[in-house]
Amino acid sequence: MIYADNAATTKLDLDAFNAMRPFLLEDYSNASQPYSFAKASKKALKNARESIAKCINAEPNEIFFTSGGTESDNWALKGIVNLHKPNSVIITSEFEHHAVLNSCKYLESCGYKAKYIRPTKEGFITPKSLKSAISENAVLSSVMMANNEIGTIQPIKELCAVAHENGLIFHTDAVQALGHIRVDVKDLNIDMLSCSAHKFNGPKGIGFLYIKNGVEIQPYINGGAQEGGMRGGTENISAVVGMAKALEKNIAAIAENTEHLQKLEQTIVHLLSSAKIDYIRNGAQPQISGNLSLSFKGAEGEMLLHRLDLMGIMVSTGSACDSQNTQISHVLKAIAAPNEYAKGTIRISLGKDNTTDEAVKIAKALIHILKGK
Ligand code: PLP
Repeated sequence: MIYADNAATTKLDLDAFNAMRPFLLEDYSNASQPYSFAKASKKALKNARESIAKCINAEPNEIFFTSGGTESDNWALKGIVNLHKPNSVIITSEFEHHAVLNSCKYLESCGYKAKYIRPTKEGFITPKSLKSAISENAVLSSVMMANNEIGTIQPIKELCAVAHENGLIFHTDAVQALGHIRVDVKDLNIDMLSCSAHKFNGPKGIGFLYIKNGVEIQPYINGGAQEGGMRGGTENISAVVGMAKALEKNIAAIAENTEHLQKLEQTIVHLLSSAKIDYIRNGAQPQISGNLSLSFKGAEGEMLLHRLDLMGIMVSTGSACDSQNTQISHVLKAIAAPNEYAKGTIRISLGKDNTTDEAVKIAKALIHILKGK
């Protein structure tokens, strides 16, 4: 099998797995207990929080462990907006992940208002478009750091500055960015940032929300005193430890991984172009390396996905067929991808373990399907 769907999830890093093991089999205590057996769990939790904070240049008490990206996004949006009076406004973009979009829909059903900024055709939210979307009663702005379908990296520092100049809190969903590009919360000056371990070779079902000291937010899960009383529930120590290990490793190897992934991308793009395949790559640079959203003229994305699957290649699609129509994803619609191409979209998301040989096989498989050669 060739796995090329790393934006959906990644393989657990072996060192992360080995770091997790003792906390499942030996040091399995509840970190909240006062007895000596709980010392190892407490220490592991503290170390992991410190290590993760260091990776994004935050303070340890600004890191709140959650069950992943979806929970972090829900918490960031609802936890802030709920503190404000109904008809307060949240400003986001049309091409956010559904964790953000559906949180906004929920808030709208509670009487709040949401504004969705349209990205440029190249896949960017500009500071100018954020500025013109800000209206009276706007309290929060949420724009993702990197888009999960087309990989475009947003100008977060500039967007955050615009939000702050207008008195808004700024949140970013960095699920597709962390571990792939450098993230420094102090330099960006952001207020909240959502992350998910399984996108950077950590375990599934664990993530965190960074909340800058001083930002007022409601707790999300009411329960025990865990996470400073902000997010109740017995901590998943092994997952937290695995997340910290995977993040440290990926961050240490960002330059090397980026170079490798860019070579793999170029291999695919070069082979497709040499075979005169009619396609477009969605989004423009800067993009997350290894993320290739390709739209093939006259093709069906779902057909391509299944044909590649039969050849042992796993990718995802940007369009899905129902009985009558091909549904184009909200991201492709937002960037106004041309219809004759958009229907034939697949996302190839390469990871650090993919090889040049695999990139060649993916390109050749596509050429075979599209040209019958
Ligand atoms: N945000 C983005 C941009 C994502 O790509 C994803 C996952 O695909 C999520 C949020 C949700 O993360 P999780 O799977 O950890 O809930």
